[in-house]
Amino acid sequence: MDGITTNLLFFSKDYFENLFQVFRLADLADIAVIAALSYVALIWFKKTTSRFVLIGIIILGVIYSGARFFNMYLTEYVFQGFFAILLIAMVVIFQEDLRRFFERLAMWGIFKKQDKLTHAHETIETLVKVAASLAQKRYGALIVLAGEDYLERHIEGGTELNGVVSEPLIESIFDPHSIGHDGAAIIENGRVTKFGCHLPLVTNTKKHRNLGLRHTAALGLTERTDALCIVISEERGSISVARNENLRRLAGPDQLRTALEQFFQQQSPKAATTKVWLRWVRENSLEKAVAVIFACALWLAFAYQTESIRRDFVIPIEYRNLQSNWIIEEPKTKEASVTLTGSQQAFNLLNQQTLKIIVDMSTLKEGKQAILLSRDLVRYPSNLSVVSIQPDQIRITAYQMVATQIPVKLETTGAPPSGLVVRSIKAKPSTIQVMALPKDHKRLTATTEPINLSTISASTVLEPRIVFPPNIQFANGKPPVIRVIITIDENKQTN
Ligand code: ATP
Ligand code: MG
Repeated sequence: MDGITTNLLFFSKDYFENLFQVFRLADLADIAVIAALSYVALIWFKKTTSRFVLIGIIILGVIYSGARFFNMYLTEYVFQGFFAILLIAMVVIFQEDLRRFFERLAMWGIFKKQDKLTHAHETIETLVKVAASLAQKRYGALIVLAGEDYLERHIEGGTELNGVVSEPLIESIFDPHSIGHDGAAIIENGRVTKFGCHLPLVTNTKKHRNLGLRHTAALGLTERTDALCIVISEERGSISVARNENLRRLAGPDQLRTALEQFFQQQSPKAATTKVWLRWVRENSLEKAVAVIFACALWLAFAYQTESIRRDFVIPIEYRNLQSNWIIEEPKTKEASVTLTGSQQAFNLLNQQTLKIIVDMSTLKEGKQAILLSRDLVRYPSNLSVVSIQPDQIRITAYQMVATQIPVKLETTGAPPSGLVVRSIKAKPSTIQVMALPKDHKRLTATTEPINLSTISASTVLEPRIVFPPNIQFANGKPPVIRVIITIDENKQTN
């Protein structure tokens, strides 16, 4: 189909009618997964500090896709060799983001959020009052409010406390006469879990050159996590709030209340269930819309193909449930040619190894019979359908085997060295129990490989290899051991 007709088809009524007919639940899930991934990528892109690297990678991705699409062999070849290295580079560059991502995934739970919610109001009020009081007294302080990220990894030292947030507690912690006033206090779920903690400093020290250590430590932690830091300056008596590597000096305690309310709201949407949904839609709505449109477009471009294609496959026939005492006469038909139809995409996803025809042998009759190769015997993916099967039936001859005794025939070559004579040569056992076809069980024998008598100079017991006739089965599944007992005597006649 050429470009013009494809384009026409795109806008035609048929195109959309067909779409509604073939659209499955799996397609919806398909789009949802891609939309979710794109959304995560977009949000990540917005937040990540390595944005330019990400842009670079996207450009490379576009070039590679283009190269593949237009069959630019050289570019594709170079890129493919480059991929493993690129993957490692990505992991190294984004290790911090990836770590955060997996930590969040592990800590993702509704309970944690609800827990936060219950303490939010009291925590906010206490902190606003304490901050005002500390600022007024010019007591330096650094208070960390944990977000969804796991903080432990970034914090050094400190003393465990786990006490409920209260004005006296926080004032005591930051009282310059106390031993523990140095460093940061960590608040999680309405409790001061630790105090006197050492936070990482901001990486870009040039940018924040004019700031002291307390402030750069606050920036350092918010650069690495989604926590919020309240900094009370000892020198200026000012209150500042740091979030996402952004430090803002506040005009007064009221602004702190607003900042904290905003922070807790983002952490845990506090409205009832109906509003949660609404809030969720509003939050980052642009990114969500872009992600959904992108996923739909991708799906239409790659997954939804209106053209159906036919392809022939030679696929194996599997004979199943054949009882052990039945045998099918060789040669039996081992494969058949099957024509499948479906979209290009369905064929792309097809693993040929999974195609097979399964013939059930549990309802066999004795003798010659035809088995219809109907479509329901073919194993193929649900997004394809079978057009035809060639041949449409197979002929087999089946026999039920019967138990029978067959003799062991001894085969020898040569003669014993001179002066010696074979007095007796016996197989033990001399007959073996096998299952064989009724038509030939009378004339079957098991034959030993030729025993060369010229190498035998004394009585001996051998275990020669046995040649068994075809189409037999052994009583316990494996061939029995047959011993050959040869008795040698001196030749009395020549004596
Ligand atoms: P201020 O405006 O209060 O003076 P500042 O940003 O100028 O703050 P410094 O004067 O360097 O910072 O303040 C030093 C105090 O900051 C230390 O006494 C200590 O309590 C705290 N501090 C310094 N480094 C860290 C850190 N890495 N983590 C937590 N707290 C720190
Ligand atoms: Mg200072």
